[in-house]
Amino acid sequence: MGDRYSLQSHSNNSGSSNGNGGTTKKTKAKKKKSRSKKMTMEQILASKSVMEWVFLDSSSGSTVSSVEEFGVPKSQTKFAEKVVLELHSHSICSDGFLSPSALVERAHRNGVKALALTDHDTMSGIPEALEAARKFGIRIIPGVEISTMFSPRGESGAEEPVHILAYYSSCGPTRFEKLENCLANIRDGRYLRAKNILSKLNNLKMPLKWEHVTKIAGNGVAPGRLHVARAMVEAGHVENLRQAFNRYLYDGGPAYSTGSEPLAEEAVQLICQTGGVAALAHPWALKNPAAVIRRLKDAGLHGMEVYRSDGKMEAFSALADTYGLLKLGGSDYHGRGGHDESDLGCVNLPVLAIHEFLKVARPIWCSAIRDVLQSYVEEPSESNLERIAMYGKIRNLKGGASVSCGKDVVDLCLSSWLTKEERLSVEFEALKLKLSHTVINQGSIIQVSVMT
Ligand SMILES: [Zn+2]
Ligand SMILES: [Zn+2]
Repeated sequence: MGDRYSLQSHSNNSGSSNGNGGTTKKTKAKKKKSRSKKMTMEQILASKSVMEWVFLDSSSGSTVSSVEEFGVPKSQTKFAEKVVLELHSHSICSDGFLSPSALVERAHRNGVKALALTDHDTMSGIPEALEAARKFGIRIIPGVEISTMFSPRGESGAEEPVHILAYYSSCGPTRFEKLENCLANIRDGRYLRAKNILSKLNNLKMPLKWEHVTKIAGNGVAPGRLHVARAMVEAGHVENLRQAFNRYLYDGGPAYSTGSEPLAEEAVQLICQTGGVAALAHPWALKNPAAVIRRLKDAGLHGMEVYRSDGKMEAFSALADTYGLLKLGGSDYHGRGGHDESDLGCVNLPVLAIHEFLKVARPIWCSAIRDVLQSYVEEPSESNLERIAMYGKIRNLKGGASVSCGKDVVDLCLSSWLTKEERLSVEFEALKLKLSHTVINQGSIIQVSVMT
């Protein structure tokens, strides 16, 4: 069950199967909308709370600037009755086909209000996604999909690859270096792994040039199986990507090779330690989902994917209930094209599921933001500010920027992500006071003094 392509197909989609699938999906989405028109009181309240968070940026601060910022009148952005959250997507920064900005644009076109960019083992696309998201008034949840290994450790079952999704706040991971070290390690391992795959393919009489694969992967992108598969198609070894995976590259397949991924539970712990929300990706691709979920729950896992474009997976929903995990889901969009790919925003996440997600995530993000700001108070260096700004919106402020002292940094970090009540805590007020003597001059900091 390691092949993601066959798993994503719309087996019960009654629409026509030719063309790019765009029109059939639209009809399907419309049908769903009309079916769920009558909301219960619980749903209405959940929806209100979710909307409040999604549009936090546009409702806090001055109304005028938020309208100008997004270039979209507020009334229009608030008009949509349904909040679409896309929690799983890829860009060219890993094995996706679209640039982060093109991805954001497509998400916006598809009605997505909050998008998590979850590239494999890298967060390098987040700054570009944030920049683009500003134009469209959609929210970016800085994310990453970490490649890990599950080892049964004496229990029955085989070792298998597991993907863990991490969702961070506007300030990014709290211990940035720790996460980045782990991700860099995995990325380095991927180069080695890709080389192993090529040597296996070579033994199978399907030689590929290393330069060919790295060219497909793009500058600085660690090659993955999908890049190898594309090279195989281009070299004429197979007819299409599906064939490359089904015959040679599937987990445990004749050309399969593992990299230097961390243990799945280590990755979950790392996400928890760095202020993120951890979710198990596509559990239906696992050989032994129950064992994996049990172990990861003990390590601190918050949720798992349960919803797909073809609806809720009942068996996995039951597992989520058993282990008290959030029920999440996303399209896992790569931009490959083709009728079997789920489009951005096509997974119908119920508003109650989104609400539950935010109920768990927001306190985690709130304390992560506090930790990041606290470390800035301890060391108000330019590099530290850059780190904070990388995932927030400060870097986007040009010209009449209102950032003049450390206090403004706190304000900006908080206003885009936290509600008034969350912001007005004693701890944040204390941080603001401490930073009010740090003077920032158009991005470069003139350190004056920090009250301790
Ligand atoms: Zn995955
Ligand atoms: Zn993915």
